[in-house]
Amino acid sequence: MTSTSIDTLIQRGALFVVNHSGGKDSQAMFAKISKLVPAHQTIIIHAILPEVEWDGVIEHIKRTTGNVPLLFAKAKKTFFEMVEHRSMFPSPSYRQCTSDLKRNPIEREIRRFLKDNPSFGGLVVNCMGMRAQESTGRANLEPLQLNQKNSKAGREWYDWLPIHDWLIDEVFSAISDAGQEPHWAYAAGMSRLSCCFCIMANQSDLTTAARLAPALYQRYVDTERRLNYTLSPSRKSLPDLTGIPG
Ligand code: SF4
Repeated sequence: MTSTSIDTLIQRGALFVVNHSGGKDSQAMFAKISKLVPAHQTIIIHAILPEVEWDGVIEHIKRTTGNVPLLFAKAKKTFFEMVEHRSMFPSPSYRQCTSDLKRNPIEREIRRFLKDNPSFGGLVVNCMGMRAQESTGRANLEPLQLNQKNSKAGREWYDWLPIHDWLIDEVFSAISDAGQEPHWAYAAGMSRLSCCFCIMANQSDLTTAARLAPALYQRYVDTERRLNYTLSPSRKSLPDLTGIPG
């Protein structure tokens, strides 16, 4: 819980950083933020996921965010380097992929941007697209809170979930109200974006992704076999889940 409000933070001249994966929630969140926050107080950061994210993600973000500056955060290791290093895929309870490939590189980029742009006085609102509807864990998150860990060295850092209470229909409505389409992978059958093959993905998304990205699918199947470790926490192999042999 925090005693400030988004209106106050806008008036105080805070920098609003939109974490943008290219997915529907990021896109809808940006549509909401762009109506509230002046463009000169807004930047977008996309965590690049080399080899494992969908084609056209960066172009999609550029196409749907106008002239707002887009920065990229890059992890020291790729997803596959991380998997090879640990000889296993990440798990939902230890999502090293989220922290190492997304959250930490984005936070590093924000700290760098604030240092290079002292006019913001270290005041920053880090905006993320998590929604309560997605899981109990996400439902329990505070929509706006002071980030104690990053509020140091002259920074006052808030984490904000602008669409925390939105239902999925409201997400797609916000996108169409903005005169936009979601990334092409949704129309092709995916329910979520980010990594093509996610450790949290359901059977339907894994099967759709296998059909849409066969070369990448083969790489995951080969990696599962070599490491004797499955991507899915159900401990079923990708071919068993999708019915598509590798
Ligand atoms: S999309 Fe899935 S596999 Fe990719 S980083 Fe996020 S949790 Fe990990």
